[in-house]
Amino acid sequence: MRRSDFSNGYDSRTIEGVIELEAALQQILATLPSPQAEPVRLTQAAGRVLAECVHSAIDLPPFDNSAMDGYAVRTADVSSASETKPVKLQVCGRIAAGGSFPGTLAAGQCVRLFTGSPLPAGADAVVIQEDTHAVAAQPDAVWVCEAVKLWENVRLRGTDVKRESVLVTSGSWLDAGKLSLMAATGVGELRVGQQPRVGLLATGSELCEAGHALQPGQIYESNRIALAELTRCAGGVPTVYPLVRDDLDATRHALKRALEECDMVVTSGGVSVGEMDFVKAAWEQLGGSLEFWKVAIRPGKPFVFGRCQKKYLFGLPGNPVSAFVTFLLLVRPALLRWQGATALALPAVAGVLTEPLANPGERRHFVRVKISPAGEVRSAGWQASHALGSLAAGNGLVDLAPRSAVSKGSTVEVLRWI
Ligand code: AMP
Ligand code: MG
Repeated sequence: MRRSDFSNGYDSRTIEGVIELEAALQQILATLPSPQAEPVRLTQAAGRVLAECVHSAIDLPPFDNSAMDGYAVRTADVSSASETKPVKLQVCGRIAAGGSFPGTLAAGQCVRLFTGSPLPAGADAVVIQEDTHAVAAQPDAVWVCEAVKLWENVRLRGTDVKRESVLVTSGSWLDAGKLSLMAATGVGELRVGQQPRVGLLATGSELCEAGHALQPGQIYESNRIALAELTRCAGGVPTVYPLVRDDLDATRHALKRALEECDMVVTSGGVSVGEMDFVKAAWEQLGGSLEFWKVAIRPGKPFVFGRCQKKYLFGLPGNPVSAFVTFLLLVRPALLRWQGATALALPAVAGVLTEPLANPGERRHFVRVKISPAGEVRSAGWQASHALGSLAAGNGLVDLAPRSAVSKGSTVEVLRWI
C-alpha cells in the first residue's frame, strides 16, 4: 500500500469508498460486543434497558377490592332496590383501605368500604355511596336505592396481571409505566444492560469554549453539549473532554486518554480529507482499525467507524447538523445495542406535509422537520449542514431519496428525535 502524500500521514485510498446507511449500521452493530448485564434496584432503573424477562410474583390486584367508596353487598339482597323502594341492609362493619374484615357477609348485611378496601367474604358487589341513604338515628343501617350487577364496582384479583405472567420483556426500555407495573408487583431488584461510557471530543483549532472571548476566526464549540444530551437520552454516560486543536499529536493524546477512560469515543470534526483532519491518522497510530469512513447520506458524509481492541471510535463530521444527524442515525442505535435494547430505530410517526420537500441531490437527504402535535409536517428551516436553527426548531427527520420530491399534502414518515 502506498503511504500518504498528505501531511496528516493518512492515505485515504487505504479504506473502501462510500457505503449505504443500512450497511454502515449493520457493520457497526455486528462489530460491537454482546451486551453485559448488571443488577440495579428498581428505584435506579429508570431509562435503563431490561436484561431479563421479568415475571410477576403475584396476582394484580392481589385481592378482590372495591373500586369505589360504598358498601359491599350480596347482589341477591338488593336485586329489587330502586329509588322508590330502597332495600334496608344492616351495616356490620367498616373496612378502610389497608384493613380487613374477619367475618363473612350474611344475608341482609353489608360492610362499609372505601376505594381499595378488600372485599369481605360473602360479598359479590359494591353499591356506590351515591346510590344509598343513611340516617343519623340509625348508624347501623343503610338504604340501597339501586340494584347492582354481579362484581359491579369490584376489582377482581388477577384481572390486571396474572401471577407468573410476563411483565416486561428483555430488551425493553424502562419507562415510567413499566417501572410502575413492576413496582406494583413487588420487584425490588432487576438486571439491566450496562451503559456505555462515551467520551466526547471536539476537534478544531477554530473552536472556542463558551465563556471565553472569541478571537478572530474562532467560533464557539457547540457539538459536545448536543452529543452529550443525545448520549444521555440513549442511555449512555457521557464524559466531555477538553477541545482538541488540529494537530496529530494533540489528537492522538486526546483520543488515548478518552479511550482509556471510556468504552467508546465520539469525536466531531477532523475526519474529512483535508490536511488538517487528524482523527483517522491518530486513531491508526493508536493501533485502531478503520472499518469505514464515508456514508452515503446528507448531511454527514465523512463518518468514521473504527475499532481498537474492545474500544470503538465514532468519528462524526464537524458541522453541527451533520454531527447531530449522524449521531442519531449511527451512534444512537449503537448505544442502545450496547445496552441490549431491542428497538434501535428512532421512533417513526406519520405526518402530512404542509409544504413540498425536495432532494435534488445525489445523496439521500435527512431533512430536519417540525411535526406538530396534530401531525402537520413542515421544514424546520434552512437545511445547510452548519445551520443550527433547523436543529433548534425541529423535532424529526424525513428521509428523502436522491433526486426526489414529495408534494404538499403527502403523508411522510417522521423519525422523531424528541
Ligand atoms: P470539519 O469536519 O472539522 O472539517 O469541520 C466542518 C465545519 O464544522 C467547520 O466549519 C468547523 O468549524 C465546524 N465545526 C467543527 N467542529 C465544530 C464544533 N465542535 N462546534 C461547532 N462547529 C464545529
Ligand atoms: Mg476541523
